[in-house]
Amino acid sequence: MQMFDDLNKMLMDNLYEGLFVVGPHGEIVYWNRTAEKITGFSPGEVVGALCEENLLMHMDPNGTTMCAGGSCPLNALRSAESDIWQGELFIRHKKGHRLPVSTKIIALRNAEGEFAGTAHLFTDNRQMREAVQGIREAQEMALHDPLTGLGNRGYGEINLERCLVEMERYGFSFGVFFMDVDHFKEINDTYGHDVGDVVLQTVGRTIANSLRASDMVFRWGGEEFLAIILQLAPDQLEVVGNKIRLLVEQSPILTEAGPCRVTISLGATLARSDDTVESLVNRADMLMYESKLHGRNQVTSDFTNPA
Ligand code: GH3
Ligand code: MG
Ligand code: MG
Repeated sequence: MQMFDDLNKMLMDNLYEGLFVVGPHGEIVYWNRTAEKITGFSPGEVVGALCEENLLMHMDPNGTTMCAGGSCPLNALRSAESDIWQGELFIRHKKGHRLPVSTKIIALRNAEGEFAGTAHLFTDNRQMREAVQGIREAQEMALHDPLTGLGNRGYGEINLERCLVEMERYGFSFGVFFMDVDHFKEINDTYGHDVGDVVLQTVGRTIANSLRASDMVFRWGGEEFLAIILQLAPDQLEVVGNKIRLLVEQSPILTEAGPCRVTISLGATLARSDDTVESLVNRADMLMYESKLHGRNQVTSDFTNPA
């Protein structure tokens, strides 16, 4: 029996997927080594905690908190409506940034069919994203920003130019989001420049992780980021913008002086056939400035709903 237990533990610890098991009363009872690698949380930090304490702050792809919003998949699994739930989620890394994960939750039932808990398997999608985003290529060409690891402004301009050429050739427009951290000077002044740097790294990662593999994000300047979103319908500008905004807002940075809340203001626009890189970026920047004027932590787009 001991040998069987050891074998079980070895198998579970060496899975390619992150795995954690939640008991019938919502308490985390097991956390494998891959889960630690993906999230940064060790078993000692999570085993015994209640799932609903929401350490991982699960959010759905629209940026809605799942635990508090009542959309927790465990409800359906508990009530025997279904045995498995699969989907794309965002979890919070211990360091604060958001990670996209593919998740499978399996209901565990004993021989009598009674609910005995859930097993949560999840995989990290970042590797593929980074490959597609060409981050390595950018690093080789000195087109990346050393602080955040994102492409820099020069690399952003090259990609905007390329997208404009492709738009002319194939007729597909694309979205441009200009993003600026709110009251960043105050963050530096309150917590120090080093925490300011961590904020920039965390915000950059959260933005990059909130996008699809084909999208791109760049550090445009000090506390400014620019994202290119391909295949975007005009009425989705604010939807996507708000998703990014919420993911950043709900990823506070933990500092010695307590949690540091960070928000961003966004300007969102679609490329037009007569745009240049400059006209496109200026328009997105002006829209971002509108968000600042109207109170910050919001999205302004130039799409007006015809309805
Ligand atoms: P607003 O909400 O209007 O955007 O206000 P703000 O304070 O974010 O804007 P402001 O332009 O006044 O301040 C930006 C600050 O960003 C000033 C600058 O010192 C700081 N900054 C620029 N680059 C870096 C960096 O790499 N690291 C850190 N820690 N701070 C930086
Ligand atoms: Mg700025
Ligand atoms: Mg700012």
